[in-house]
Amino acid sequence: MATFELKNVSKIYDGKVTAVQNINLAADDGELVVLVGPSGCGKTTVLRMIAGLEEITEGELIIDGKIMNDVPPKDRDIAMVFQNYALYPHMTVYENMSFGLRLRKVSKNEIDKRVMNAAGILGLENLLNRKPAALSGGQRQRVALGRAIVRNPKIFLFDEPLSNLDAKLRTQMRAEILKLHRELQATMVYVTHDQIEAMTLGDKIVVLNEGKVQQIGKPLELFDKPVNKFVAAFIGTPSMNFIEGKIERNGDYVFVGETGSFRLKFNIHNYDKLKTYVNQSVVLGFRPEDIKLSENETEIKAVIEFMETLGSEIILYLKIDDVSVTGKINMVTDLKPGGKISIEINENKLHFFDSTTKQRIN
Ligand code: ATP
Repeated sequence: MATFELKNVSKIYDGKVTAVQNINLAADDGELVVLVGPSGCGKTTVLRMIAGLEEITEGELIIDGKIMNDVPPKDRDIAMVFQNYALYPHMTVYENMSFGLRLRKVSKNEIDKRVMNAAGILGLENLLNRKPAALSGGQRQRVALGRAIVRNPKIFLFDEPLSNLDAKLRTQMRAEILKLHRELQATMVYVTHDQIEAMTLGDKIVVLNEGKVQQIGKPLELFDKPVNKFVAAFIGTPSMNFIEGKIERNGDYVFVGETGSFRLKFNIHNYDKLKTYVNQSVVLGFRPEDIKLSENETEIKAVIEFMETLGSEIILYLKIDDVSVTGKINMVTDLKPGGKISIEINENKLHFFDSTTKQRIN
């Protein structure tokens, strides 16, 4: 069990490539922290610095109140689970799980106790004598988890551990990792590029981009109040709609899209900070979920370009004059491509961003 903190941490490879820039983040004892961001944003580098596999160029790593920058990996009491399991093919499941403990000269009895306990947690009891080649992908990943559990480490690090599995198995293993976290009450850091995985796993999600922390928050905070346009676009599927335009005031407050064709009246009382942006450029954002079909004629008329039916929901790709917009609505049967519809956009769920800084305004 442990707490950890990264304080003003940067990583510069070979004095040239800044992979991570001035990161601050902390985990409480027993917390599951998810690092999420696009490829190359520095997730793996952060994990490797915590594990001690990569030197920290600037800043401090603190575990349980102690600065750990110069402590060798083997003395950090951290276990890492990788994407490619890295199991030894010639060893059985039992041997794979016990290998690290044998190296550390842990007694046979203790090894047996720990392996059997981990096998019980992971449902591997009947597979202990099999070799990795005779296991499914999910079972192999469980063995890799087992190998980490038997070490009883202070901190677990997961580097995209599920990305080699198919979608169904991934969902199942995600649930198992959550269960594991509950049972072990261990401090865990989980890296993924998949925002859905992040949203379903995290107590605390850290969104990274270009080596910098963009936002740290609970899943709903990131969804409802993204601090900038990057987080707004990254979290949620389909992605948020963005339209560049201007706030005009003509009695009412109106957002007018750049090309003049998209207009949306809104109540300024919900967006006090926008008052200083009148006649200035802003970016309007709204989620596909916040569009709905209107039975009455509304001011916003759209043409359905194409649509994806997902069973209980439909994704609509719409054109409002020259502006493309995505909507996600509950299933209705009478829509077809080329059809004209009237829509409403939930005026309490608008997001506004500064067009220069891309930071949230409201
Ligand atoms: P992915 O999701 O693709 O694994 P990531 O978010 O984990 O990406 P990192 O692997 O941490 O990203 O890489 C961050 C940046 O640092 C990238 O620009 C990468 O090219 C660079 N980088 C990583 N390792 C090294 C290295 N050993 N030497 C130089 N640059 C590196």
